[in-house]
Amino acid sequence: MPLDEYRRKRDFNRTPEPEGGQPRRPRRRSRDKETAGYFCVQKHLASHLHYDLRLEHEGALLSWAVPRGPSLQPVDKRMAVRTEDHPFEYGSFEGVIPEGYGAGIVMLWDHGAWTPEVDDVGAALEKGDLKFSLDGYKLKGSWALVRTRDRAETPPRQRGRNWLLIKHADFWSGPIDITEVAPLSVKSEGDFDDILAADMPDLWVTGRPATATGNGRAAALTREVIESAARKILARHEAASPEEPHAPGGPKPRSASRGGRRTSPRSR
Ligand code: MN
Repeated sequence: MPLDEYRRKRDFNRTPEPEGGQPRRPRRRSRDKETAGYFCVQKHLASHLHYDLRLEHEGALLSWAVPRGPSLQPVDKRMAVRTEDHPFEYGSFEGVIPEGYGAGIVMLWDHGAWTPEVDDVGAALEKGDLKFSLDGYKLKGSWALVRTRDRAETPPRQRGRNWLLIKHADFWSGPIDITEVAPLSVKSEGDFDDILAADMPDLWVTGRPATATGNGRAAALTREVIESAARKILARHEAASPEEPHAPGGPKPRSASRGGRRTSPRSR
């Protein structure tokens, strides 16, 4: 069962992530070639910032975590760690995972259609060489995922999971740092702080998640995001009720939560 690992890692009473029902019916193949499917890249601020590339295949989403994100330059071979398949519905998810596995903020950074440039995706995965094209807002043209050889010191659970994401040279390749040039959500058009301010204000502003503590870059970024989100929530409150005085520490959790729900991306 492809989604077993996904479900085992999560408590669906405590995470807003979709549980995933039955896998979608796989798309019909036209002749020998597989037809286009959905793809997305979710920018995920968790214990480490990374980009999750997901490709629809046989009703679920094949997934790779790309720590540095995709590059449009063919010389950049970006490490991509194969992770568990995700439910198809996960592909539109954007929001806050308050605790547990993957705790942090998920942004829908890009999405669109992908088309395999191989006859048989299953065989290409097996072989460790999947060529495909993307037609998203940010990522386009021809790409490859190539599995790398395990080294002697690779731990057993990591074996066979290390791949490289490579852009082929074409019209869509070039010396542009796409993660810098286009950092925002294709769903809400916001940044992490906007997603946090809209989705989960009280919990994170008052009780910071484990990912916000420590000296790492992701922890520092998470603290910045929380502070910026708190300022946005406060500004929204001041705009909504200019007469009402507020505590210097920030808005009251209850009213912050109501304000957040109104502009939640999921309620649109
Ligand atoms: Mn992730």
